[in-house]
Amino acid sequence: MTDPFLIGFWIFMAAMPGLLIGSFLNVCIYRLPAGLTIVHGHSFCPNCKHNLGPLDLVPVFSYLLLGRRCRYCQKPISSRYMRVELVTGIYFALAAAIYRPGVLELPAWLAQLTGLPGPVAAFEAALLMLTVSVLAFCGFLIWAMISWDDHDVPDGVFIFTVIPILIRLALQPEKIVYHVGGLLLGLLAFAVMIMFRLLPEMQRQRLKSLGIALGLLGLMAGLTAIQPVLLVLLIELLLITLRTRRSDPAVERQASLLWRSMPLQALLISSVLWLFF
Ligand SMILES: [Zn+2]
Repeated sequence: MTDPFLIGFWIFMAAMPGLLIGSFLNVCIYRLPAGLTIVHGHSFCPNCKHNLGPLDLVPVFSYLLLGRRCRYCQKPISSRYMRVELVTGIYFALAAAIYRPGVLELPAWLAQLTGLPGPVAAFEAALLMLTVSVLAFCGFLIWAMISWDDHDVPDGVFIFTVIPILIRLALQPEKIVYHVGGLLLGLLAFAVMIMFRLLPEMQRQRLKSLGIALGLLGLMAGLTAIQPVLLVLLIELLLITLRTRRSDPAVERQASLLWRSMPLQALLISSVLWLFF
């Protein structure tokens, strides 16, 4: 695909569902840690519990156009919902810009299996890689935001994330060693963090989630792409450990903020990198 108009259309067609899915991710981030269902039930205002109408549910635009307040109770709405939608939409667009039809080929086994002619196969290959990338992004974003809220991440989030990662490995069988290397490096970095007591005090369940997430990030991103992520995390954890020794409440608050934002930083760095490797 070389026509700029077609490329623009391709990116637009990815960004729109991205915004909608971002809106659904907000529901997941809010409901999963509370053990609520995400399959049915109306979205409601977290303050007055009023069911939201279609007009309230248009991603990004509802927030910007309806005065940034709940229409029923007038309480200001956190801009975070909009930011999650926006980040998701932008990521879908970015992934579509990288994975365009004609840039990738179907792996030999899949081309043989489907018997698709060249141009169709190029379209399918781009669509598959795009879908796999954005699904993994969504899984990790739920993990990062639930961690930011300081809640336990349900195991289901990781199971959901593993599926697109495995499909990606199947689509690029020649790169499996590279991705398994990323997994091992992620787990090794986690072991180093524990060994040098860089992680703050936390429950076993949290520790387990963090280890799984780092391993999976490594598996998805691959060996080269996970290295900068781990380097940033290790430097930050080292700084936190050194600074909080002074036990100043302001420093501790800063450290806690930095600590809670780490999954999000790890996700944003690695998800951009994994598109290029
Ligand atoms: Zn309300």
